[in-house]
Amino acid sequence: MPIAFTDILKARQRIAPYVRRTPLAESPVLSDRAGRPVTLKLEHYQTTGAFKLRGATNAVLALSEDERAAGVTAASTGNHGRALSHAARATGARAIICMSKLVPDNKVRAIKALGAEARIIGMSQDDAQVEVDRLVSEGGMTMIPPFDHADVIAGQGTIGIEILEDAPETGTVVVPLSGGGLIAGIARAVKTLSPDAKVIGVTMDKGAAMHEALKAGHPVPVTELPSLADSLGGGIGENNAHTFEMVRDLVDEALLVTEAEIAEGIRFAYTEHGEVIEGAAAVGIAALLAGKLQSTGDDGTGPLTLLLSGKNIDPDLHRRIINGENPDLEREAAHA
Ligand SMILES: *Cc1c(COP(=O)(O)O)cnc(C)c1O
Repeated sequence: MPIAFTDILKARQRIAPYVRRTPLAESPVLSDRAGRPVTLKLEHYQTTGAFKLRGATNAVLALSEDERAAGVTAASTGNHGRALSHAARATGARAIICMSKLVPDNKVRAIKALGAEARIIGMSQDDAQVEVDRLVSEGGMTMIPPFDHADVIAGQGTIGIEILEDAPETGTVVVPLSGGGLIAGIARAVKTLSPDAKVIGVTMDKGAAMHEALKAGHPVPVTELPSLADSLGGGIGENNAHTFEMVRDLVDEALLVTEAEIAEGIRFAYTEHGEVIEGAAAVGIAALLAGKLQSTGDDGTGPLTLLLSGKNIDPDLHRRIINGENPDLEREAAHA
């Protein structure tokens, strides 16, 4: 197993001064619906608005002084890019985030506001990645990937320790799943501290890369489609080194939810809990409300913890959903 529990303990100590220990809250209304105690891990309260700060901070702190001075780079404009920018500034490292000309202005500004350099290059994510590779080979920078990296996985795993410290009786942890860094780290921690506990991943049913890979037995390319859970988009990498194996070996089940179910999860978090969460973070609530956690092979009665992973949603999109709309982003993109 590439990431040991001791790596997660080390990460926890290392990142403690830089990340928030987020609260675990009871949800009486979801407990009522589920017929079992439900708690919410409020990780969307994390600095930068998503858990990715944990892994990025651990990865930057694991570098040598010289490597940190040379700087870190990535091609993400989403939660990983924000996390890496913040982590670099907090630890005195240089960061260059590469992005294509198609990236909207507000995302570029958000990255710059966090203290990173934004390098605008080419017309696609692939072009941006070429520039990242060049900064690594010619500029001596270190690329920090969003999920398939031992220090990143160990950083995300610290969430699992916190959940079991606050709710040792937890029987099942439900985690949003994309590249699998988050769930791999959490599963490693949870299954070490509480071997009988179950860990369930939830993904949108469009372009679910890890889900397809598990079915095929190896990473397979998937088409990325517009989804309310935009932070769950993208593949797991043809040459996946860590997360595929860890998810295959440690995760009990991978479930899928529809766009309408995700919208309902976002709405429910807001109307019942006053929490603004992004689509990726709403998949656990979505699965519970849709009755999809019933078939998960656990006894169906033990305490359940749902991880709310981030809050970075476009405010206009959020408003539409709260007002009762179920946006079809694929159709809207086709008609734009
Ligand atoms: C990245 C992300 C995920 C998925 O994490 P993986 O490690 O790629 O599985 C879930 N929720 C949010 C908000 C994210 O930013």
